[in-house]
Amino acid sequence: MSKKVIIIGAGIGGLGTAGLFAKKGYEVEVFEKNENLGGRANIFEQDGFKFDMGPSWYLAPDIFSHFFELMGERVEDHLDLVRLDPSYRIFFQSDSSKLDIHSDIERDAAAFEAIEQGAGDNLRKYLAQSEYQYEVATQHFMFKNYDRIWDFLNKRVATEGQKLSVFSRMHTFVSRFFRSHKLRQVMEYTMVFLGTSPYEAPALYNLMSHMDFNQGVFYPQGGFYELIKALARIAEKNGAVIRTSSPVAEILVTNGVAKGVRLESGDIAEAYIVISNADMYHTETRLLEPKYRTFSERYWQKRVMAPSAFILYLGVSEKLPSLTHHNLLFSEDWRKNFADIYDDPCLPNEPSLYVCAPSVTDPSVAPAEKENLFVLVPIASNLKMTESEKHTYSERILSLMEAEMGIDGLREKIVYKRIYTVENFAADYNSFKGSALGLAHNLMQTAIFRPKNFSKKVKGLYYAGAGTNPGIGTQICLISAELAYKRVHGITSAGPLEAL
Ligand SMILES: Cc1cc2nc3c(=O)[nH]c(=O)nc-3n(C[C@H](O)[C@H](O)[C@H](O)COP(=O)(O)OP(=O)(O)OC[C@H]3O[C@@H](n4cnc5c(N)ncnc54)[C@H](O)[C@@H]3O)c2cc1C
Repeated sequence: MSKKVIIIGAGIGGLGTAGLFAKKGYEVEVFEKNENLGGRANIFEQDGFKFDMGPSWYLAPDIFSHFFELMGERVEDHLDLVRLDPSYRIFFQSDSSKLDIHSDIERDAAAFEAIEQGAGDNLRKYLAQSEYQYEVATQHFMFKNYDRIWDFLNKRVATEGQKLSVFSRMHTFVSRFFRSHKLRQVMEYTMVFLGTSPYEAPALYNLMSHMDFNQGVFYPQGGFYELIKALARIAEKNGAVIRTSSPVAEILVTNGVAKGVRLESGDIAEAYIVISNADMYHTETRLLEPKYRTFSERYWQKRVMAPSAFILYLGVSEKLPSLTHHNLLFSEDWRKNFADIYDDPCLPNEPSLYVCAPSVTDPSVAPAEKENLFVLVPIASNLKMTESEKHTYSERILSLMEAEMGIDGLREKIVYKRIYTVENFAADYNSFKGSALGLAHNLMQTAIFRPKNFSKKVKGLYYAGAGTNPGIGTQICLISAELAYKRVHGITSAGPLEAL
């Protein structure tokens, strides 16, 4: 009989892990608490609108392709990817102007030059650096399991640490290239994807600009959930069994060795290896007895969590010509906006926000001549709101969109509205402090400093997903699946696997 692997949670990390182990010949069983697969990459349909609830930016297509190839598949056989043009539109609150990013160096450099003399050339230099960092990170850092500090502070970091910008902060780094407040915002906003602020993030993360400016922004026709369906299909094709509506209540441990799980239903499933894709705090503090926890409550309370989000899913009765597929509104007081999220948590009165209008590209996500909007405002994790505060805040956000994004009379055009925020993340995904993304990516929670993907107290217990390495992001969670696979098989190579 083949060895059995149990995976807790069918988020992207869990589905990716299920695929890899099933293809290798293990007997794989996945237990997911929710009815839907995909974790935070969730979906719901209402009144003819199909809402992707979480991720919407398909970035770094090479990393997705690598995973599919490892599974013996081709992305194009599963996803109909469209390259967006423009990649995204930015609205600036400071002067009511807007800027389209095309992920075309000629057009983007010209647009930068028009805002600041010399910025066109500086954009080219900046993106060359981002590309270098991306290449080094994907070949030497991201696909590597860290055990000791020396695995991270290796010869490459020691000799090239300065060049790789490991130890400086993102805002300082960006400021060396661009003087204008607006262009600094453009190069820094991606830190929100990593759940951190440009004032805290290591400048190494300027590799993110390689993804959106150089590689381009993609969208799977039919919606982001098509990716989830593809990952589940591939895992099942290789023999994995995925059980939804099956919350795990306990990881069973005998003499320090993982033996399986007990479901909330009382059913027991035995295994040789248990891999948890569920939120790490939840796994450690709710599914394990205290003596088997690697981290103390004090450890968790000292972690910096990525923001939560105040999200509006909106069905709109007509097309909104001022919007493109991805739209960002940057608040004028950037520093205060980050302080409202991290330092002095409150609902930001002048927030930066993101509006996704997938119906601009994809007629299948809204009824004809209607618009599907996903509006996301990053807010502090653990923020408590009454129902009336949520309503008042949604009105504030809608007025901002009307005033700053050229959507006159938006409120009268809304035919469906759902608010989703901190407590929903906590309830739906067992997310610690209701964070949307999990552990933030500041320096002390990156690479060697991020929780490792195995339990120090329980043999045979591993982790995959955003809470461990490499961290947050859909394609990044697929790397976490590969790292769990490498960990179990004692593979210590630094680069992507070529075969299972
Ligand atoms: C609003 C939003 C927008 C985002 N935008 C983007 C984007 O545009 N591009 C991008 O690349 N990334 C984006 N991300 C980040 C990305 O979606 C996440 O980093 C990634 O999906 C997390 O995957 P994961 O593997 O950590 O699993 P999770 O999604 O956290 O899933 C874990 C699963 O475990 C399940 N679970 C929990 N407890 C139990 C239990 N006891 N028993 C059984 N199951 C359990 C949960 O229900 C869940 O399904 C976004 C995230 C959010 C929330």
